[in-house]
Amino acid sequence: MEADLAAGKKILKENPAGIPVTHACLIWGGSAELRLDAAWALAAAMTCSSKTDKPCLRCRDCRKIAAGLHPDITVVSRDADKQSVTVDKIRRISTDAVILPNEAERKVYILPQADLMNRQAQNAFLKLLEEPPSRVCFILAGENAGAFLQTVRSRCTQIRLTGENPIGDEYEKQAGRIIKAYISEDAADLLLTAMPAEKFSREQMSLLLSALWRAAAQELGKGGESPLWQAVGLIEKLMDMNRANVGCGQIAGLLCSGLIEEMRK
Ligand SMILES: [Zn+2]
Repeated sequence: MEADLAAGKKILKENPAGIPVTHACLIWGGSAELRLDAAWALAAAMTCSSKTDKPCLRCRDCRKIAAGLHPDITVVSRDADKQSVTVDKIRRISTDAVILPNEAERKVYILPQADLMNRQAQNAFLKLLEEPPSRVCFILAGENAGAFLQTVRSRCTQIRLTGENPIGDEYEKQAGRIIKAYISEDAADLLLTAMPAEKFSREQMSLLLSALWRAAAQELGKGGESPLWQAVGLIEKLMDMNRANVGCGQIAGLLCSGLIEEMRK
């Protein structure tokens, strides 16, 4: 295990949501490294046998977690040869989750790339969230909360991380300009800014779409106009297509035509 529990605990303590001990948490934003540290610290808080200041980092459970040896923590990742976290993985969790924990109060499942769950997997996961087995917690982590079905998102306590994400900066800028062009109904600028994405790799497209989702959500948070809801819906649809490996040329084209169509309504 590469995660740093002390660093993760610090991240969680600085976060407004704190260290929630609930049956499902969604950690999003920040870098993959920050999310992993936070997820492990949260798992430690959920299994820690200390009475106060969980995770104490000293009790038997915390030490086993730090060593990567706790039998009640399971990490569920994408298979190396798969693009997404598949429904089989989630079904395996469902089967395993009904077995009581070995040592701790609870069993914890960490999904560090939960945003790579495809729709089928998310629907299977939703069933688990709706009727969670007793003494089981789930920690989902992903770059962007927009990658999750609304029904999954709403059943989780959300922990949003901020912090350095230097790779994301150029995509943040591009996304900011696209949303600005959309709001000011400047189709020419929108095309100019968005069309270069047709040459993106699938990974770059994922970063841009995430940044777009965040930019649109931020504008909505300011009490933005209702057409932004349409933009968010479109971006979420394109995220699905990107996960399904639709070509970036097509996605960039649909992004432009979709947004321009909306701004002309
Ligand atoms: Zn402890």
